[in-house]
Amino acid sequence: MIAPGRAIGVLGGGQLGRMFAQAAQGLGYRVHVYEPSGPSPAGAVADRETCAPYEDLASLEAFARSVDVVTYEFENIPSEPLRVVEGIVALRPASSVLHVCQNRSREKAWLSANGFPHARYAEALGGDIGEAAGAVGLPCVVKTADFGYDGKGQMRIATEQDLAQASAIFRGRRCVVEQWVDFEREISVICARTAAGETRTFPAAENLHANHILDLSIVPARIAPQVEQAARRLAERLAGALGVVGLLAVEMFLTRPGDLLVNEVAPRPHNSGHWSMDGGETSQFEQHVRAVCGLPLGPSGARNPTVMVNILGDAWLRGGGAMAEPDWGAVLAEPRARLHLYGKPDPRPGRKMGHFTVQGSDIEETLGLARAIKARL
Ligand code: AMP
Repeated sequence: MIAPGRAIGVLGGGQLGRMFAQAAQGLGYRVHVYEPSGPSPAGAVADRETCAPYEDLASLEAFARSVDVVTYEFENIPSEPLRVVEGIVALRPASSVLHVCQNRSREKAWLSANGFPHARYAEALGGDIGEAAGAVGLPCVVKTADFGYDGKGQMRIATEQDLAQASAIFRGRRCVVEQWVDFEREISVICARTAAGETRTFPAAENLHANHILDLSIVPARIAPQVEQAARRLAERLAGALGVVGLLAVEMFLTRPGDLLVNEVAPRPHNSGHWSMDGGETSQFEQHVRAVCGLPLGPSGARNPTVMVNILGDAWLRGGGAMAEPDWGAVLAEPRARLHLYGKPDPRPGRKMGHFTVQGSDIEETLGLARAIKARL
């Protein structure tokens, strides 16, 4: 057990690292953030921040030596720095987990090899998108194998014309081409797992996206109880098979015939778990601290039906391209709503600036209130 008072290192300084740091500090830990791109949202609240490239091995080693365990809030970390860190201090989840999850091609192959359900797919090496799309069938979606997030590096292909365009755009890049799933709902389950193999899953969140970016998460998800159970079991089995110590977020499609297909897995706190900060018995960030430090896991139920709404930089946009501060009063004046902002200085379209949650007793009514607040922002 890594006892409160010790130090946790976090690779990556975004909002997930920030909320993780705040939860860790709430339990008495010290937090040291390592962020290559300069002073960060997580660094602003951490006890210490190192801003240096991952290739700066001296800085990376000094960082690893200053802490008792290291975790990460971001998947696109090259493997060499991870090996350096792991040679000095425990990395949780382990680099072997990140290696699978940080690349769509490896992740899909791993899911296949381990018998987890996923959409039909084929690999493409840039120029071969036509062949891969032929194998999968139209409509399909092409996704770059690595460095994709929030729908970046993705394109839906429905026609021969789209296919020609995609072949030109993705030429020379390693991609996966996936069958387009006509899903009933998109859901995600976050599973916490300790080094001793104890697991606990949060309730499934139902996720609504806009422009490939998460817009709303709804808990409880509007799905049948047996689907909820199956989704939670699937996430538990995945976390066990990967050997995760920490959190594993599993995004799934619920198909119209009622099957669950794994879309993506992330070994870290996840945007679709932010509802738990206010509506959960334990927040996902605290649960991640507990799991990586070997503390007992907290209860993972929902205290109330809760809706989480992302606040993107678009909320600052006014007519004619002008920018103005959103009307925070719309959230702050509502007693059932809680506002969380990430301290990012420059709002840009598509950039995650914060989120708010709304709790209620009825999920449809809570969803209506959340949408009304969003419109007033
Ligand atoms: P991803 O980055 O893979 O999570 O994709 C972002 C979003 O694009 C997903 O949450 C879905 O809304 C949509 N999407 C991705 N892949 C598929 C697919 N194979 N079929 C249908 N929708 C998809």
